[in-house]
Amino acid sequence: MQLGDRLWTRGVALALLALVAGLLLTGLLTAQSGFETRDASVLNATQLRDAERLTANLRLALTANRSEIDAALSALNAKRTVMQRSEIALLEALTADLKNDALAEVGRVAQRLETSLSERFDVLLIEQQAIDQTQMRQLIIFSSSVAACVALMVALLIVGYQQRNTLIQRLEWQASTDGLTGVSNRRAWDSGYALTLTRANRIGLSVSVVMLDLDHFKKFNDRYGHGAGDKILRLTAQALQRSTRVTDIVARYGGEEFALCLEGCAAEDAKSLLERIKSKLPGGMTFSAGVTVTDGSEPPGVVLERADRTLYAAKRAGRNLVLLSSEINLKPTSATDANVMLSLKSTATT
Ligand code: GH3
Ligand code: MG
Ligand code: MG
Repeated sequence: MQLGDRLWTRGVALALLALVAGLLLTGLLTAQSGFETRDASVLNATQLRDAERLTANLRLALTANRSEIDAALSALNAKRTVMQRSEIALLEALTADLKNDALAEVGRVAQRLETSLSERFDVLLIEQQAIDQTQMRQLIIFSSSVAACVALMVALLIVGYQQRNTLIQRLEWQASTDGLTGVSNRRAWDSGYALTLTRANRIGLSVSVVMLDLDHFKKFNDRYGHGAGDKILRLTAQALQRSTRVTDIVARYGGEEFALCLEGCAAEDAKSLLERIKSKLPGGMTFSAGVTVTDGSEPPGVVLERADRTLYAAKRAGRNLVLLSSEINLKPTSATDANVMLSLKSTATT
C-alpha cells in the first residue's frame, strides 16, 4: 500500500473517531442538562410551598396585628399631617423670610435709588447753578455791552455835539475874521460897527471912528516882497488889537486899510493911541489915519465917510499923520452921498 493510501485510511479513521467522541460528549451534556432542570423544578416547588406558608403566616400575623397596623398607619398619617403643617409653616417662614429679604432688597434698592437720585439731583442742582451763573454772566455781559453802547453813543453824541459847536464856532470865526491878520473882517465890521453906534447912543457914550491906511505900502511890497508886506499887515493888526479894548472893533477894511470903532473913547485919546502904535511899527512903516467922533445919533455911513475924508486929508498933508476930523475943514456931506461913496469904496477894495 502506498503512502497516500495509508494516510487516507488513517484520516478517515480519525474522523470517525472524532465523530463518535462528539456524539458521546453531546449525549453527556444533554443528560447533565436534564438533571439540572429536574433539580430546579423540585427546588421551585419547595420554595413555592415555603412562600405560600410564609404568606399564610403573614396573613395571620396581619390579621392579628390589624389594629396595631391601623394605629401605626394613623400615627403615620398624623405625622404626615404634622409634617405637612410643618412644611407649610416652613414654607410660610421661608416665604416670610423671602418677603423680608425682598422687602429689605427693595429697601436697599430704594435707598440706592434715592442716593442715586439725590446725587443726580445734586449734579442737576450744580448744573442748574452753573447754567444760572452762565446766564447771569451773559446777562451781565449783555447789560454791560448795552450800557457800553449807550455810553459810547452818549459819548459820541457829546463829542459830536462838541465838534459841531467847535465847527460852528470855527465857521463863525472864519466868517467874521480876516484870514491874514486875525482881526475882524469887513462883514463883522458892518454888523458890529452899526450896533456899537446904536448902543453908545442909547447909553450916552461917545465913539471914536478911525480909518487907517499904511503909507506907500505898494512900494514896501515892491522893495521887500509880498510876504514881508503880509507880515507888516499882521504886525499892524496885532498892535491895534492889543492896544484896544475887548468891546472895541478892529477890522481890516480892505487891502492895507484898517477901521477902528472905539467905544467910550474921546477923539484925542484915540489920536494919542494911534500915534503910539505908529511909532512902534517895524521896518520904518508908517500909516495915515483919520479920526472922527460921534455920539451914535448919526447914520454909521456918514461917520465912516467923515473919518475916511479925514484920512485922505492926512494923506494929502504928507502921510505919517493922524488927523482929527475936527482939525480940518470938511464940507458936510449928506447921508446919501456918504453911502454912495462908501459903497464905491467898498467895491474898489474887495
Ligand atoms: P498910499 O500911501 O497912497 O496908500 O500908497 P499905497 O501904495 O499904500 O497905496 P496903493 O493903493 O497904491 O497900494 C496899495 C497896495 O497894497 C497895493 C497892494 O499890492 C497892497 N496890498 C493890498 N492887499 C495886500 C495884502 O494882502 N498883502 C500885501 N502884501 N499887499 C497888499
Ligand atoms: Mg496905502
Ligand atoms: Mg489904501
